[in-house]
Amino acid sequence: MGINIAIDGPAGAGKSTIAKRIAAKKGYIYVDTGAMYRAMALYLLREGVDPSDTAAIDAKCQEADITIGYEDGVQIVYLNGENVNGYIRTEEVGRMASSSSPNPNVRKKLVQLQQKLAADADVVMDGRDIGTCVLPNAQVKVFLTADSHERALRRYKELTERGEDCDLAVIEQDIIERDRQDMTRELSPLKQAEDAVLVDSSRMTVEEVADAVISLIK
Ligand code: C5P
Repeated sequence: MGINIAIDGPAGAGKSTIAKRIAAKKGYIYVDTGAMYRAMALYLLREGVDPSDTAAIDAKCQEADITIGYEDGVQIVYLNGENVNGYIRTEEVGRMASSSSPNPNVRKKLVQLQQKLAADADVVMDGRDIGTCVLPNAQVKVFLTADSHERALRRYKELTERGEDCDLAVIEQDIIERDRQDMTRELSPLKQAEDAVLVDSSRMTVEEVADAVISLIK
């Protein structure tokens, strides 16, 4: 097994920003597992599946082949061979990802892919269940969180910088609802692994959080 670093936490806690920094600094591969659930969600949305229709999610997820590649160190997610990086970062896809990720077949497929990536290389992987389920033997586990208002503010800034029209209160409600779904699902719910280090980034800069995580790597 290579070096495995697991970063879990709720939506908008800054997991990908921190994971990318660590990957660049240590020469590890960054694996964004949320992007895989989002690619699956995009497929379901394109197929017109209703987020509450669990039977349709179960049937349709079998048709989606999700694979990962890297271009200049950037993770590319392929959905049935198509690069879908440009389509998965919307709030609609995020909501569908949260509704479809409790499905056992969806998880089975994507967890297999994640474990294979980690078996072949040194990785820093972020998600919801990395320390608890995907990489239970990871050398470093971090549970990265921040209060929901702070997380909503960060998402708001990100979206407005991209020129998207959005409402802070709606974003915060969305984040709270997504956390609720992720924490209360039966299979692999979002929770801190017993051996994970809790980092609350609400009042920390990106550099401070990255340094705190890097200091845990032997
Ligand atoms: O991290 P991101 O916001 O891209 O994740 C989208 C959704 O995918 C999450 O709300 C969660 O429901 C699901 N997810 C998951 N397990 C992971 C990563 C993401 O269930 N390891």
